[in-house]
Order: sequence, then structure tokens, then C-alpha cells
Amino acid sequence: MHTVQKIHCPNCGCEAERHYITESQITRTQCPACDYLMISCTRTGKVIEAYAPGILARR
Ligand SMILES: [Zn+2]
Repeated sequence: MHTVQKIHCPNCGCEAERHYITESQITRTQCPACDYLMISCTRTGKVIEAYAPGILARR
């Protein structure tokens, strides 16, 4: 099961995507506008990988 949700990027505020990948129990958030990336574990809530480029909150 793979669910995609439209969200707002926490880094730049643009439209980003959050993918829920149930079989690997991870949530992957990615923004095409600023290359923001966050992968976290759905079960524990722990962040596995995070990458935020240095353009903080510029709209
Ligand atoms: Zn962004």
C-alpha cells in the first residue's frame, strides 16, 4: 500500500508530497521546489533521514 498526500513543505511552504509506504513502515516527505526530504518511521515516529536545503521559509 502506497498513499500519497499533498502537504505544504515545512521548509519553503510550497506544495510537497508525503508518501506513506506501509510495507516498509516509513513516511517519506519530499518537496520538488526546494529538495526538502524527510524519511521517518511510521511505527516509532523516528526520523531516518532528513535533508533541508538552506533556503529557510522563503516564500
Ligand atoms: Zn520546499
